[in-house]
Amino acid sequence: MRILDAHVHLYPPEINRDPAGWAATHGEPHWALLCTRRRRDGRPVQGFPSAEELIRELDAAGIERALLLGWYWEQPASCALQNRFFAACLRAHPDRLLAFATVPPAAGPAVCLAELERARDEGLRGVGELSPHAQHADLSAPGLEAVLAWAGAAGWPVNLHVTDPAAGPYPGRIATPLADFRALALRFPGTRFILAHWGGLLPLAGEGPAPANVWYDTAASPLVHGPGIWETFLRAVGPERVLFGSDHPLHLYPREPGAGLARFVAEARAGGAGAAVFGGNLLSLLDPAGTSATPSGAPGSGPPG
Ligand SMILES: [Zn+2]
Repeated sequence: MRILDAHVHLYPPEINRDPAGWAATHGEPHWALLCTRRRRDGRPVQGFPSAEELIRELDAAGIERALLLGWYWEQPASCALQNRFFAACLRAHPDRLLAFATVPPAAGPAVCLAELERARDEGLRGVGELSPHAQHADLSAPGLEAVLAWAGAAGWPVNLHVTDPAAGPYPGRIATPLADFRALALRFPGTRFILAHWGGLLPLAGEGPAPANVWYDTAASPLVHGPGIWETFLRAVGPERVLFGSDHPLHLYPREPGAGLARFVAEARAGGAGAAVFGGNLLSLLDPAGTSATPSGAPGSGPPG
């Protein structure tokens, strides 16, 4: 079975060299809090692989392609840096990587839309991971509304970070009320949303069915949920709404050094994930009409067999 990972983070060399130092000098304290901290046992919460190291990690886990998601940066310059880096990654590994663009909604429509247009020219395919709650933009911020409308018109999916209300406290945790996501999806019915981290279990919250333009990824699931979540969620929501995504290079099994992507793939498979969850749904989101040419190097574009 072909496997795509719909939720992977990756950073340029200047960030990888000294993540905390870079964040301190570039106005990104929230990212630093989430991504450069150490656990109580002293181990870092995540790694900082290069693109080439990421490809080797994908190979080891049997993952054919990864969708790179931008971070929900606070500064416009950080968004631009990451989008240009992703463009370079796509040029270097067109057969292994896909990428979404990140934008700073609080900077307003002009900045965000210029960034999206440029990213589209560079081969990026969607928006995210955004977190208006962490990016100082309320739900009616003009920049956010412009981005969501543009994405709907362009056919670009939008990945939004959702904090699971059930997840315990951790440094940098930001509350993201589930009602906000429901409201956004209803206000922008032509925009397709991917709510990260099982959507904070929004469809299981007992407030009725989620809007039709909402999908969910499984990023960081082992840090919050046991493996039973797969069967529960897939039964309640349906496999056609779920995208396998890891949140790599976050360490998904911190108590088991060495257990990473391959272990998560096995957990998903055991939980009932099939071809749709492992990539079919993502490819449909990227090409909703199913008419445009399959992206170069994408599953399905090679010779048969
Ligand atoms: Zn993420």
